[in-house]
Parts: sequence; structure tokens; C-alpha cells
Amino acid sequence: MSFEKLGVMKQLLGAINDLGYTNPTTVQTRAIPLVLAKSDIFATAQTGTGKTAAFGLPMIQRLRANSEDENRAIRGVILSPTRELSIQIYEDLQNFSKYMNLTIALLVGGKDIESQQKVLKKGVDIVIATPGRMLEHAENGLSLKSVEIFVLDEADRMLDMGFVKEIRKIHPMLPKRHQTLLFSATYSEKVRKLSKLILTKPAFIEASKKNSTVDTINQKVYLVDRERKAELLAYIIGSRNFRQVLVFTRTKASADELVLELKKDGLKCGVIHGDKTQANRLKTLNDFKEGKTRVLVATDIASRGLDIEHLPYVINYELPSIPEDYIHRVGRTGRAGRDGEAISLIDIYEKHDIKEVERLIGIKIPQESVEGFEPDPTIRRKDEDEIKLKSEHKKQEKKRAPKKVVKIVTAKSLKVTKKKRKTTKRD
Ligand code: AMP
Repeated sequence: MSFEKLGVMKQLLGAINDLGYTNPTTVQTRAIPLVLAKSDIFATAQTGTGKTAAFGLPMIQRLRANSEDENRAIRGVILSPTRELSIQIYEDLQNFSKYMNLTIALLVGGKDIESQQKVLKKGVDIVIATPGRMLEHAENGLSLKSVEIFVLDEADRMLDMGFVKEIRKIHPMLPKRHQTLLFSATYSEKVRKLSKLILTKPAFIEASKKNSTVDTINQKVYLVDRERKAELLAYIIGSRNFRQVLVFTRTKASADELVLELKKDGLKCGVIHGDKTQANRLKTLNDFKEGKTRVLVATDIASRGLDIEHLPYVINYELPSIPEDYIHRVGRTGRAGRDGEAISLIDIYEKHDIKEVERLIGIKIPQESVEGFEPDPTIRRKDEDEIKLKSEHKKQEKKRAPKKVVKIVTAKSLKVTKKKRKTTKRD
């Protein structure tokens, strides 16, 4: 299949060619004709599958005929959960539309609203925004009455981040007739609920197996004691000569702590998390992309929207608190069909978490330990006794449960219960 056969117009083909895309990815092949045919879509696409072009290219094609009017109204809105992802989408759309005459604006928090309003006054065709900032502009008088295409990218993450209120407020500001494209990496109940509210007769696109990770990623678990994780991480990076590795921690504090430890080992690293300013995050990301730093430590919030070409390694220093985030994290590697490796360093407290991840992705991840870093077998979970006690308690409760039922049933149904018991005994 070629982009041309999908109905992509000439100016866009030129831009795609400049980007070096030769063939459309699966999600692009399915989504592009549907978006051009003005259908609503609900797509579950993993990170790195080329979903930005899947909605970006046909959206630009559909909105290509702009007017020169300074006060022309916004016809396309793309909401994304984070500033980083919004910037990434903005850059992609700028690249796609470089041979066309469309104006695209980026509306994210962390930048002053007045300068964004000035840009909007000049006339804009498409806006890419985080939900909070979009609502702020709309409540300050920005009209969304001419929107033809509304895109929710990484909808699952937006909902996890609590943006449902903003989306619910923005949605009624759109005209009755508009096209909605919903993209989500995972297929959660929350996303399904939202889709019922905002989509009309959508076409479903499942570019990948539900909640599965990208096939080209080689996933591994190394078992290690918590206090030796930093040491093991530095050892892996050094001994295997990793030149560019993205490391995830669960909290901002452990990200900062880890960076200090790695620096002691002489590793050049940067850190990205919610407490860093936007300017700082961008500089750190650029340093990493340009190879000035070898290790980038990040928390989950900051992980969205990081698109680093040829990123070969992702290491989970700590597993995420939400299993779905594992998919987002490891999706940073193995992008667009390239190979990648995802290593998770697991201590005794995370054994349950990794099982949850495996259940979600439907794969058993091979577990091993690195020589010299084997977990100490005498270390037990401090709360192990408490856990055992709780599970014993649950078992006891289950055993007691049928007796309780007998107490509250009527005489008639009691006979039935007794009869049933007899049957059970005979069996
Ligand atoms: P996305 O899932 O939109 O974040 O895209 C992931 C990466 O794949 C980005 O670096 C894109 O530039 C790249 N990409 C998207 N579509 C294609 C394609 N058809 N061929 C090659 N690379 C692509």
C-alpha cells in the first residue's frame, strides 16, 4: 500500500517523502481513508505506530482550503495530555503541511496566555492544545463554533490525568456537526465511556492487539534488591556501553536521587519531571537527543510525547503504579518497526506489579539476575507477615460465607439449601 493509493494529496506526498516515510503504517492505512470520508473514529494504537500522521495527514488534507481572512475561525482542534506531546504533534503537523498554506498554533500551559491570544488574533486553522489551556482560551472568548475536526490524542492518558472535566466542558462548545477522532494507546473502561459521549457511529480501528506492547521490543526483567538498583543500572549502562538510554522512576524524588547516584558513577544524565520548567524540560530533552547526555531519567507524566529517533533502550528503574503506563514507557523504544530493548529492574516489592503488567500485555516477560547482583534470598518483604495474615483472613471469611447465607434465608429456601448440600456430599 502507498500513501498515494490511500488518497493522500500531492503536496502532502512531497512532505511525507521529505520525512523519509516510504509506506504507511497499519494505523495510517486504516485511518487515512476513513478520516478523508469524514467518519468518526475510535482507534487503539500503541505509541510509536505512526498515529500522529494517521490523523494529522487527512486532517490537513480536509482543512486545506483556508481563507486569507485575518479573523478566520479555528476548524481543527487537537487535544493532547502533555506539553511535550503537544509540541511533538505541532512539529509533525508543521512538517506535514510545509507545502501548504495552513496556520497551526500551539496552546499549552507554561507559556503566557496573552502571546497565544495574539497568535490566535492573526487567524489560525488548527490548534494543538492541552485540555486546561484550551478551556482557558475558550472561556476567554475563543470561538470553537467553526470546528470541523476534533481530535483527542492519547485519550486514556488525558483521563488518567483527570482531564475529563475539561473535555466535558469543551465538547458542548463545538458545533453539533463535526468529526471526532479518538486515539488511545489502551482500551480502558473510562475511554469507552468517553467515546460513547463524544463519538457518533465511529469506525473502530484496532491497529494492534488490545493492550499489547510493540512486537519488536525485547523485554526483560532483572531481579535485584532495592538498595542495589542504582549500582546495577550504572553497571548495565557501562558494561553494555549504552549510549542513549531512557530510565523511568515512579516519583520525582527517586528521579532526582537516581540522577545524583549516576552522576557519582561518571554518567552524564538529565532529568525530566513535573517540577521542571518547560524551558528546562526542552533543553534536557534536546541535550539527550543530541547525545550531550547519555541517560535521561523521567517520570511517567513526562514520558508522554517523548519521541526520540532510534531510541534503543528503555529501563524501568521502578515499575509504574498503573500497569498501563508500562506500555507507554516501553513504547518509547522500538518505534516505527525498529528494534528496541526494555529492561525492568524488579525488587521483591514489585513482584506483584510485574504480574499485573504481564496480565495486561498477555506476555510472560523472562526474568533473570545479573551475576554479582543476585537478590539476597534472606531478604523478606517487611510486610510479608501482614500480607499472609490478610490472605488467611480472606480465606477464612470465604469459608464462613455459606453459613451466613443459611442464617438469613427463609424456611422454604433453607430446604433447598439443605438438599443442595446433600447432593454435594454424594458427589
Ligand atoms: P507516532 O506514533 O506518531 O509518535 O510516530 C512514531 C514515529 O514513527 C515518529 O518518529 C514518526 O516520524 C515515525 N513515522 C510515522 N509514520 C511513519 C511511516 N509511515 N514510515 C516511517 N516512519 C514513520
